[in-house]
Amino acid sequence: MSPRVIVIGAGFGGIAVGIGLLQAGVEHLTVLDKGDRVGGVWRDNDYPDCACDIPAVLYSFSFALNPDWSCRFPPRAEIQSYLEDIVERFGLRPHLRLRTEVTAATFDEDTQTWSVETASGDRLECDVLVSAVGQLARPVTPQIDGLGSFGGASFHSAEWDETVDLDGRRVAVVGTGASAIQIVPAIAERAAQVTVFQRSAPWTLPKPNRRYGSVKRLVGRAVPATLKAGRAATWAVTSAMSLAVTGNSIAGALFTAVSTGQRRLQVRDRALREKVTPDYDMGCKRVLFTSRWYPALERSTVDVVTDPVERVTPSGIVTADGVEHLADVLVFGTGFAATEFLVPMTVTGRGGTQLAEYWKDGAHAYLGMTVPDFPNLFLVYGPNTNTGSTSVVYFHEAQARYIVQAVRLLSAMRGGTLEVREEVEGDFDRELQTRLGGMVWSGCESWYRTSGGRTVTNWPGMAGEYRRRTARLDPADYLVTAPVNRSAPAPAAKPRRRAGAAAS
Ligand SMILES: Cc1cc2nc3c(=O)[nH]c(=O)nc-3n(C[C@H](O)[C@H](O)[C@H](O)COP(=O)(O)OP(=O)(O)OC[C@H]3O[C@@H](n4cnc5c(N)ncnc54)[C@H](O)[C@@H]3O)c2cc1C
Repeated sequence: MSPRVIVIGAGFGGIAVGIGLLQAGVEHLTVLDKGDRVGGVWRDNDYPDCACDIPAVLYSFSFALNPDWSCRFPPRAEIQSYLEDIVERFGLRPHLRLRTEVTAATFDEDTQTWSVETASGDRLECDVLVSAVGQLARPVTPQIDGLGSFGGASFHSAEWDETVDLDGRRVAVVGTGASAIQIVPAIAERAAQVTVFQRSAPWTLPKPNRRYGSVKRLVGRAVPATLKAGRAATWAVTSAMSLAVTGNSIAGALFTAVSTGQRRLQVRDRALREKVTPDYDMGCKRVLFTSRWYPALERSTVDVVTDPVERVTPSGIVTADGVEHLADVLVFGTGFAATEFLVPMTVTGRGGTQLAEYWKDGAHAYLGMTVPDFPNLFLVYGPNTNTGSTSVVYFHEAQARYIVQAVRLLSAMRGGTLEVREEVEGDFDRELQTRLGGMVWSGCESWYRTSGGRTVTNWPGMAGEYRRRTARLDPADYLVTAPVNRSAPAPAAKPRRRAGAAAS
């Protein structure tokens, strides 16, 4: 019996799992997404100059290398087209159900099934539930006094309002994260004035973008090995960066020197350089790749304001020093609710356990994928599987491979459940938190950490380690429950087996 699988989310993660399952022969597959297209963050983030900041040869699927990228760091629209094309090419399209928002999922022990509720009131049933809802899918706009009184347009970077013309307008950009550093250089040329409100200065590294000519594309198509070589080289560079972020002092010193050198070279104005010099260790917050940020800040029409934002008035933003900064448009580059996983869905596991309650002190999952009390639930891009220095897609592929193994195992068992053993998940989490405690991320406030200080987004090691540890699903890590006979009345006591018992 091939299990019925529902995947929630059709971004890179959901697509990776969906294709993996199709290739493994899983027929009963449905991929749900609340959006009207696939693509996840690449569908949603349509702000000026939105592009990836990891070379696309690595920020793409290893099984679908693309010779047609127009440049090393292609713009959003190209990544979106790539994903749309992949969905067609690998036969995922018929399995998609778009415009379908999942509001709740409940596990029924008697039938060993997940019941999935949608916003329109539909109820779907499956044997295996995969959540691929992303970490950066819920934009956060800060609650600032007076925001509702603002007289002009105001929107979050992920909800860009393209009907608002910025030419010759005064634009206030709140935030200096990965989106803002792409937006500001893009709009600085056409806005009359851009005021950037900076809470903390980001560490940056140059973004050596390069256009790809027709010869390179031809070669890539004719000799795919060149794409693989490019991928391997990119992998090596990003691995060095991962080393820097995860505590290697030599790599750390090297990248810090490159970043400091970039700032010295690109910011001639001393006062501005002081303002944009970070006051925390490199890597604590996401390092941003840009070659255009500082030149944009140096323009006479761009101001960097470091006084804290206090309130919004009908005509602008007032900072703590009492100054009102006039603006026609407010743009919030203030990021996402990254530390809250699977929110706002209500996910109920075995014995009525609520996932939100289980994670009240911060999300955690075995290998970022499985949670005790939640049988046959698998997470993609779950807790502690983010990376600040290499491609998230690399992690997605590792997760897809692992989840395919789980579904294969369940298929061989002709049903039943896999539930990670509490002690396995607990040991894993303790190991991770011990390692994370000594790392750069614990030294500052960032979207990697909860308000309680727990780092819930990031993987503490190299991506290669994650790939190795997820390469083979060990049934001994799981409580394996034999299938119930769905046509028979519910059994009084379910047959539960430990550690890899071959249930059939
Ligand atoms: C602007 C931007 C640039 C980025 N650039 C890079 C980069 O260069 N390199 C890198 O490695 N990473 C980058 N990232 C990180 C990015 O989040 C990941 O690389 C990756 O795209 C995440 O894919 P995903 O499928 O896991 O999640 P998402 O892309 O967030 O997709 C999740 C999907 O789930 C759907 N969904 C959510 N909740 C529900 C629900 N309840 N019901 C139904 N559907 C639901 C959403 O609609 C969405 O389509 C970037 C992120 C952003 C926002």
